[in-house]
Formats: sequence, C-alpha cells, structure tokens
Amino acid sequence: MDREDQVNEALKELLCSDYGEAAAEKIWEGYVPRPVTLRVNTLKLSAEEGKSALLEAGFSFESVPWYASALILRGTREEELRRTPLYEEGKIYLQSLSSMLPPLCLAPKTGESILDMTAAPGGKTTELAALSEGKALITACERDRTRFERLKFNLARQGAGRVTALCADALTLDEHFSFDKILLDAPCSGSGTADGRPLRIDSAYVERCARLQENLLKKALRLLKKGGTMLYSTCSVLKREDEQVLKNVLPPNVRIEPIEGFEGIPRLPSMEGTVCVAPTQLYEGFFLAKLKKE
Ligand code: SAM
Repeated sequence: MDREDQVNEALKELLCSDYGEAAAEKIWEGYVPRPVTLRVNTLKLSAEEGKSALLEAGFSFESVPWYASALILRGTREEELRRTPLYEEGKIYLQSLSSMLPPLCLAPKTGESILDMTAAPGGKTTELAALSEGKALITACERDRTRFERLKFNLARQGAGRVTALCADALTLDEHFSFDKILLDAPCSGSGTADGRPLRIDSAYVERCARLQENLLKKALRLLKKGGTMLYSTCSVLKREDEQVLKNVLPPNVRIEPIEGFEGIPRLPSMEGTVCVAPTQLYEGFFLAKLKKE
C-alpha cells in the first residue's frame, strides 16, 4: 500500500466504524467532483434579476427546490464565473449547496444580534446578512489573520455593510457580550467535502478537531442568550465531530430543536432532530444541529 492509499484507508476505517461497511462504501462513492453552485446575493439584486443576468451572460442553470437564491451550473467552470462582472461586483457568491443550509436553518431576522463565531471566508456571514435583508446586527469572528482579510474583502464586495468583523480567537471573546443567535460553523476534518482527491484524515486529527469543536461549542453556549438559538455545523460526516461533540457538551438546559423541511436532500442516519447530509454528486457531506438554550 502506498502512502496515499494509507491516508485514505484511515478515513475509510472511521466511516466503517461509524456507519458499517456497506454504508461507508456508499459514502465513499459520493466523494466525487461536484458541479459549480452559487447563491445570488439578494443584498444587491433579486434572485430573478440574478437569473436573468446569468442567462444574458450565456450561462444556463438549474434551480434548487429549497432555496430560490441557489443555482446549479452543470458544465460551468468556476473560473468562467469569476471573470464575470456579476462575480466581480459581488452579485453572486460561489458556495456549495450544503453550506447554504446553516444560515437558512438559523433564519436571521431584523434587529437580532447574531454571532458568526468562526466566519472566514464569509460565505455564511454574507448569507446571514442577505437573509435578514441587511437588518440583523451581525458580528463575524475569525482567528486567522489571512483568512480574516479575506472575510473583510468578501463582506465589502457582497455589500454586507452592517457586519462587525473581529480578528480574534472566539474562545477568548468577552462573556459580557451575549447574542440572540449564534452560528458555529466549526473548523473540522472536512470529511464531507472530499471529491476524489486523496484525504489526509486519521483518528488523531479527528480527535484534535473534536476537542476544539467541543471548546468552541461550550463557549458558544455561554455567549448565547437564554431563550436564544444556535446552529452547530461541520462539513464532516464523522460522528466524533458531530453527534459525539453534542453528547459530550450539551447541558440539560440546551435542547436540540428538530430541523424541518429541506425535502430531497440526501441524508445519513444521525441523532434525532439533527441533519447529516450525505456526500453525493451534488451535495457535500455536512452536519447540522439547531440548539435552543432554555
Ligand atoms: N463559515 C465559514 C464560511 O462559510 O465561509 C467557514 C468557516 S471554516 C469551516 C472555520 C473557520 O474557523 C476557519 O476560517 C478557521 O480559521 C476559523 N477558526 C478556527 N478556530 C478558531 C477560533 N478559535 N476562533 C475563531 N476562528 C477560528
């Protein structure tokens, strides 16, 4: 076995132990290149206007039943879109379908204070801003300086003007602050995003990710107001990073609020109320849990 095979073998074993051999094989078959997908930035134009502009620019697309702003562009390369004025002017944002789900589940509203705890490069921050029509009070936190610069660039380009960006370790945020809603789109192994290239994921790495996820989730729950809602998500399908993190961290006053809707999205079995999107030809693997603090 060469080095690359050994690397992949470690992830395969983790998947087998979580889901059994047959299901793990199916997950593996979902690790394929996916079509380009994007979100029309409704801070700048309506979904309909975005579609017309894309058609005029010569692009064809398919709609997504659960999100009017999301489009699938089969046979288009990202570079082709990056060269368009639509992209340059921040009227569209290239984003995987699965990663559009957490802001939709959090459903930001006018006037709510919202913390996006680990925010760069800002796909979900800008989506939260768009969903609230720019009227939620969003704070976006990112630890890594280079990624923080990217976040600021994206916020400006997408016209997400009311977002306060903080370059900070979210674990050190002052707990005098509290938020109505929190998105913790946690750093993770990325086991859901694989697309056929060799994967460097083994149990030691997954354990390191899970420990950080647990610390970030504990912190998020302290920063969340009583009665507030948060969304925990990862782009991993490994149970250690998903439901085991919840089992290890959730105190009795925090309950899982079932995520409803999103019919047609492929799923893996997961803890009651949560969603684990299965990796397929269209979707990246992704985990989502909506949590309510009582
Ligand atoms: N939500 C982002 C988006 O949709 O564009 C993707 C977030 S990515 C999964 C996780 C991010 O968390 C990375 O940019 C990483 O640098 C950042 N991060 C990791 N640990 C952090 C910490 N302790 N505090 C703040 N950010 C952190």
